[in-house]
Amino acid sequence: MIDIQNIRAQFPILNQEVNGKPLIYFDNGASSQKPQAVIDALVNYYSKDHANVHRGVHTLSQRATDKFEAVRKKTQAFVNAAHDHEIIFTRGTTEAINLVASSFKIFMEEGDEVLISAMEHHSNIVPWQMMCEETGAVLKVIPLDEKGQIIMERFDELLTGKTKMVAINHVSNTLGTINPIEEIIYKAHKVAAAVLIDGAQSCPHMKIDVQDLDADFYCFSSHKMYGPTGIGVLYGKEEWLNDMPPYQGGGEMIDTCTFEDTTFNELPFKFEAGTPNIADTIAFGAAIDWMNEIGIENIGAWEHELLEYATEKLSEIEGIRFIGQAEKKASLVSFLVGDIHPYDLGTLLDQLGIAVRTGHHCTQPLMDYYQIPGTVRASFAVYNTKEEIDQFVAAVKRAALMLG
Ligand SMILES: *Cc1c(COP(=O)(O)O)cnc(C)c1O
Repeated sequence: MIDIQNIRAQFPILNQEVNGKPLIYFDNGASSQKPQAVIDALVNYYSKDHANVHRGVHTLSQRATDKFEAVRKKTQAFVNAAHDHEIIFTRGTTEAINLVASSFKIFMEEGDEVLISAMEHHSNIVPWQMMCEETGAVLKVIPLDEKGQIIMERFDELLTGKTKMVAINHVSNTLGTINPIEEIIYKAHKVAAAVLIDGAQSCPHMKIDVQDLDADFYCFSSHKMYGPTGIGVLYGKEEWLNDMPPYQGGGEMIDTCTFEDTTFNELPFKFEAGTPNIADTIAFGAAIDWMNEIGIENIGAWEHELLEYATEKLSEIEGIRFIGQAEKKASLVSFLVGDIHPYDLGTLLDQLGIAVRTGHHCTQPLMDYYQIPGTVRASFAVYNTKEEIDQFVAAVKRAALMLG
């Protein structure tokens, strides 16, 4: 059992009023809040340890390097990667996907295909469109059923010898759907396609084992898992990363450099040009420690309880329509009430101190599919409570009466 009150007490930001009401923060799918341990790690680093990494022989530089590289090992363990040099630090999921879409171009020929699903975040659509534009490859989209699940028969049809890359989110940020990525990866490998998993919404909630999944690439963002903004991870299999050209040029990523010729550094540095985001990486390490201490299974179990509770309570509201009713769902609810515009509902909820996300959630093609302007999304983290959900449901009822 986890002690939610003890967990809440570690998040200074939660202890405040917004518009005269105690803050209820249900926008964790966009970004989660940070525990004191993560805030302390940032302050301590800048107060005691800061210097540039991988360069100096002096003590501070070595200390900063040791702490920075320790996080790579922590991250490796967190997702069970085979090697620490398979962990590339990026600015976030978006940059990780852009890196792969850019560097993977060398394997693409005209007429090759990239397969994505209809529920992807813009950051797992646009980089592939750009890649296809440049290479003459073709982007194909796997459709969804009414509940917001990938139609696997259609996936089977679309997956052919032409498919070179399958890029899918593990968990949808709009629908909450948990996709059957084990099966997708297994089938994709049978036609020798590589698979990139957008794990921005899975890593905060469930244990990820990239070796067990056999994913070729797996991307995630620290700021959605209790860590700082500006730091994220690309896990890539060594074989792929070794064969892919660098994404950016600069310091750190070279081995030797003359005006005539440059040879590239080994992994992971080949893909980390320039001074990295040292402070946020170290604080991300504190976030991983913090999650490990509570236990990712415990986090996921509590959030699942919140999901079931919220779904049941919200169902009582007249005219509610859930967007995303997959059999397997992570801890978020997307919905509409009657004809009320999500923006109006969100604004009223804010006046009651409740933070939810409204709009298209960076999934415009998905909104087009459902023919809706957007949804109201409440997404839960480990520090949320059933009492907060009660207040939220009461507030939605009140707002629906006022706006309906
Ligand atoms: C948030 C999110 C992204 C983008 O992550 P950034 O941290 O903004 O780079 C990509 N995919 C999904 C599913 C997301 O939820």
